[in-house]
Amino acid sequence: MDERRYEIAIVGAGPAGLTAALYAGRALKRTLLLESGLPGGELLNTEDVEDYPGFDRITGPELATRMTDHALAFGAELVAARVTAIVPQDDGFKRIELEEGEPYYARAVIVTAGGQPRKLGIPGEEELAGHGVSYCAVCDGAFFKGQHLAVVGGGDAALEEAVFLTRYASQVTVVHRRDQFRAQPLLVERARQNGRVDFLMDAVVEEVLGDGSRVRGLRLRRGDGRVEELEVGGVFIFVGFLPNTGLISDHAEHDAQGYYLTDANMMTSVAGVYAAGDVRAQLTRQVTTAVGDATTAALAATKQVEEASPVLPAAV
Ligand code: NAP
Repeated sequence: MDERRYEIAIVGAGPAGLTAALYAGRALKRTLLLESGLPGGELLNTEDVEDYPGFDRITGPELATRMTDHALAFGAELVAARVTAIVPQDDGFKRIELEEGEPYYARAVIVTAGGQPRKLGIPGEEELAGHGVSYCAVCDGAFFKGQHLAVVGGGDAALEEAVFLTRYASQVTVVHRRDQFRAQPLLVERARQNGRVDFLMDAVVEEVLGDGSRVRGLRLRRGDGRVEELEVGGVFIFVGFLPNTGLISDHAEHDAQGYYLTDANMMTSVAGVYAAGDVRAQLTRQVTTAVGDATTAALAATKQVEEASPVLPAAV
């Protein structure tokens, strides 16, 4: 057997990738799970998870550890490597190219590569990243004890993280570019009920102000054109997410934001390449939807692999 040929390869070991590995391993397929960092994906940046059935509350890292142990128990091989391209071959296999080292090959590939936070792209943001500009409240919140912070954005992440940051901050101002939130009403209500959260609506952040080594405020343009400064010690930016969907060499259909479009079996428009989790176009991006879609992808990939090379009945 060629050591670098697998039946199913999975790219990215967040909740979707770990679930796909569990199901593919349990179906006794030779399964490769590729991950450039630690397994767990966005769970590693999440303090508490309280909407995963069966766990009324569990920390993100603990859920990540449990999912990893569970996935690997069924035989999937976890390899640390950054995938750079997935290239369909004439024989039906896909070549999986890596940043370093020889490529792998797999008959079916499941892309569960997640993504990264969207940037505002304004002056001061990049220069002050790590010096008061952050994209992860769980990672950096504790550095801002007793300070006034800004959270930029109006989605679930912004409202949830604003409340989280009140553990440390004296005050958290949510700055949103519109006069309505995109976030779920429950999360908006929780933020409104929190005495340390206030809101600046119709406010577009034009610049992160600082002295080079730390943030000292934001320059904002209000809906009526007024320009204001908000003095804060740090700014947490939660304005959405950019999926890692540049890996498939053939054109894979996607929506306007770049998320892969799939069929009901989670297959992309490229035969034998599946997608689940944050790379896939869907109504919401929850751990529960990621694991559900990854289950479908793994079982569909298993069926595809078995149709291409049927399983022989066990000798009697
Ligand atoms: P999101 O839902 O896409 O919201 C992004 C927010 O950022 C929107 O309010 C948007 O404003 C704003 N925004 C985008 N670009 C901007 C820019 N250039 N300048 C200023 N504001 C900008 O992203 P998200 O909050 O990261 O959530 C992503 C997904 O994860 C969602 O599906 C969400 O449901 C899920 N999530 C769920 C939970 C939970 O259930 N507990 C927690 C976190 C995330 P507009 O509204 O004006 O477009």
